[in-house]
Amino acid sequence: MAVSRRMFARNALLAPAVLALSATTRFEDVAHAESSEMPDTPRFQRRMIGEIEVIALMDGMIERPKEMISGYDEAKAAAAARLAHKPHDPAAIRIGINGYAIRTADRLIVVDTGSPSGLAPTLGGWHASLAAAGIAADQVDTVFLTHLHPDHVGGMTDPKSGTARLPKAEVIASEADWRFTFDDAIYASMPKAVQQGLDISRAMVTPYTASKTLVVPGAEIAPGLTTVAMPGHTPGHMGLRIDSGRESVLIWGDLLIVPAYQFANPDWGFALDTDKAAAAKTRAKVLDMSAADGMMVAGMHLDFPGFGYVERAGQGYGFVAAPWDYRV
Ligand SMILES: [Zn+2]
Repeated sequence: MAVSRRMFARNALLAPAVLALSATTRFEDVAHAESSEMPDTPRFQRRMIGEIEVIALMDGMIERPKEMISGYDEAKAAAAARLAHKPHDPAAIRIGINGYAIRTADRLIVVDTGSPSGLAPTLGGWHASLAAAGIAADQVDTVFLTHLHPDHVGGMTDPKSGTARLPKAEVIASEADWRFTFDDAIYASMPKAVQQGLDISRAMVTPYTASKTLVVPGAEIAPGLTTVAMPGHTPGHMGLRIDSGRESVLIWGDLLIVPAYQFANPDWGFALDTDKAAAAKTRAKVLDMSAADGMMVAGMHLDFPGFGYVERAGQGYGFVAAPWDYRV
C-alpha cells in the first residue's frame, strides 16, 4: 500500500523526531567524526542455510530512551524484560545494529551496511566486522537494502570524500523508499531532524545511483533470495527470505526495533516508524507467521547475531536464539 505524502508528514510530525534513532546527527557531524570505538571490536558469526552461507556482521549498539516507544507502559516493559532475561533501563534501552552478508556459489550480497560512525561512538563497526569475516569491500557484488535509514546505509560511502566504500557493488532497493528519500517536496515538508536523517541517507546512496536496481516486494534478487513486503517502518520496507535445500531464514530488517519489549508487546511502535498503524499490522502478521511456521528469523535490531525463532508467549511472543551452527 502506498503511503500518501500527507499521511507521512503527519506521522513524522507526531513522532518525537528529535529523539529518532537515526536523525539526531547532522550530516556534517558524520562527515567530520573521528573513527568510532567499534572497529576495535569487530564481530561476526557464520551459519549455513542449506548451501548458502549467512554471516551476521555487528555494527554496534546505541542506547535510546523509552520516549521513543509509542504505547510504552512501565509495568509491561519491566515484565517483558524479566521474561526475556534482558536488562531493563527505560532511560537507556540498548538497541543493537546488525547487517548480514550472504555468500552463494557465485555471489556475495550484503543486506544493509550499518551506521556511519558519526551517529554515536558505539556504532560504525560494520566494515571492521566485514573485514574480520574475511570479506574485502571490493568482493561485495550486491547491496540489498531493507530500507534507506542512516543506520542501514552508513557503510556505503566515505562521508568525508563522498566515494563509494563498496566500489564493485550494485544496489538493490525498494522503489517506494528510493522515491521517498529523494522527493524534494517530502523533504521540504519534514521537520529539521528528519531532514538531517534524509541528508545522511541521500549522501550514502548517491554514489550508487548509476548501478542501482529498484524493485517491488516479491522480487527474487538471486536464486533462493526473495524480497518480502513489510510496509510501515518505511513505505517500501522489505525483508529478505533465503531458501536453500530444506532450510530458510527470514531477515526481517526493522520489523521491530526494541526486542526486549516489542516481542511481548507487538502493538508498541517506534519513533521512526513512518506509518505506525501499518508497521503494527505488518509486525502482527510476520510474528504470527514466523511462530506458526517455526521459521528461523534474523533482524537488524535483534541482539547480535540475531538468528532465532519466534514463539507464542501469553498475549504476545518471545524470542529463542538459534543454537550454534557446528557446520561452519
Ligand atoms: Zn534501523
